[in-house]
Amino acid sequence: MDRLDEEFIDIALRAKPPALPFNNYRHIILIPAMGDDIYKGYRGAALSTLKNFAVRVWSDVAVKTNNGEFIGIILPRSETADDRHLVLKMPNGYNIGLDVDTIENIIERGFREAHYKIPEKEFPFDPGKPNVTLLGTGGTIASRLDYRTGAVIPAFSPGELYGAVPELADICNLKTHKLYGVFSENITPEHWLGAANAIKTEIEAGADGIVIGHGTDTMHYTAAALSFMVRTTPTPIIMVGSQRSSDRPSSDAALNLINATYSAAHCDIAEVMVCMFGPTSDEYALLHRGTRVRKMHSSYRSTFRTIGETPLARVASGKIDYINNDYRRRDMSRSVELDTVFDERVSIVYYYPNMKPDIIDSLTDNGYKGIIIAGTGLGHVNKPLYPALKRACSSGIHIFMTVETLWGYVQMFVYDTGRDIMELGVVPGANLTPETAYVKLGWVLGHTHERAKVNEMMLTSYAGEITEREPIDGYLIMQGGLPEMEIFLKNVHV
Ligand code: ASP
Repeated sequence: MDRLDEEFIDIALRAKPPALPFNNYRHIILIPAMGDDIYKGYRGAALSTLKNFAVRVWSDVAVKTNNGEFIGIILPRSETADDRHLVLKMPNGYNIGLDVDTIENIIERGFREAHYKIPEKEFPFDPGKPNVTLLGTGGTIASRLDYRTGAVIPAFSPGELYGAVPELADICNLKTHKLYGVFSENITPEHWLGAANAIKTEIEAGADGIVIGHGTDTMHYTAAALSFMVRTTPTPIIMVGSQRSSDRPSSDAALNLINATYSAAHCDIAEVMVCMFGPTSDEYALLHRGTRVRKMHSSYRSTFRTIGETPLARVASGKIDYINNDYRRRDMSRSVELDTVFDERVSIVYYYPNMKPDIIDSLTDNGYKGIIIAGTGLGHVNKPLYPALKRACSSGIHIFMTVETLWGYVQMFVYDTGRDIMELGVVPGANLTPETAYVKLGWVLGHTHERAKVNEMMLTSYAGEITEREPIDGYLIMQGGLPEMEIFLKNVHV
């Protein structure tokens, strides 16, 4: 092996793959059948290699390279991928890309064509069970690896999900609706509005809980947006994603889906939340408030953390432990009220040393109406920005300060530089995370541009986005457990 193909840079890089966290049946392989082409996507040097050694896609092979021997099944290749690598699914479930120049011999040991369409089983209906609607927006949780195009699963049905994750039928009657099929970097305010409307429709049609499948990368933005746009809900609204796609042994897709669905069906918290792995292992999931949650790790399954607060609850094996009692209770007599406005002329500016004023000026000149600054420490930027900030504020732009540290409050009274920045018109944003502040400012500016009103709305907590204080041990216990989280959770009483 010379290098791993860029598509498959993952844990295979490590000498020792992690222990499989799930039973094998959770290792769902979702590879669509590929049609008649026996070389499926291979071309150039890679195609010649297959032909030279008389092997094809789905051949179970032993490959001798000048870096050692590898066994596995030859996977189809994306049409857009390079023509220099052969991709094997190894017995441990991970994929590896072998540089064809390193290959000395390939022996076909068998042929195992995959027709891994999940068998559709009819989702049973039980009048005694709660009704949950799963709204899909895309992301890894909705991905089946189409090795030809890299495409996202085109649809998911209750039958397909039931085939893949049969536990869902023990929890609820599941209805599914695919809203979108995008990776979350492509989510826009329009998607937020669409999701808010779909939530209302589904709850009014009788859903006892909503699950929203979403890419993890921007899930915290969407969670914040829905927290503001769905002003009241009788039921839980649970966002869920997965860090590892369902064809990987370490996938968190099935367990996250089970925990999220269980929470939607049974949890007492009628708010927008994110449900994802708590610790790095599969012991339990945490429910995070939509306005205080943030993706904090690029690859860990326990990537979501509640910032500056405790998570709301822990979910495991069909049991919910409430950690934070300050939440809005489930109440099926409450109606759904939407407030779906958003002024997209807002931006986040992440301050770095030596930032030049032209960054701010360009926002002013391009018609932006709101800026969230993620400032250093307690909320600072350098002096050269001051005139540009003053100009922006004078021209009607609303600027709020947040902190790059993410934890803690903006505190602009401590240093005279903070006071100077406030005098320019920049308003301290309490402990809003920069992302939540961005979403909130767009939402607030959808209502008003009147300065006093904007300030008042920004500093009023509508959905738990601003808290009066951080819990005393919050900073430690919310770092992903171990050992602080464990000690803390042991003291949690149901
Ligand atoms: N890039 C993907 C997304 O956010 C990653 C994921 O789903 O976790 O859509």
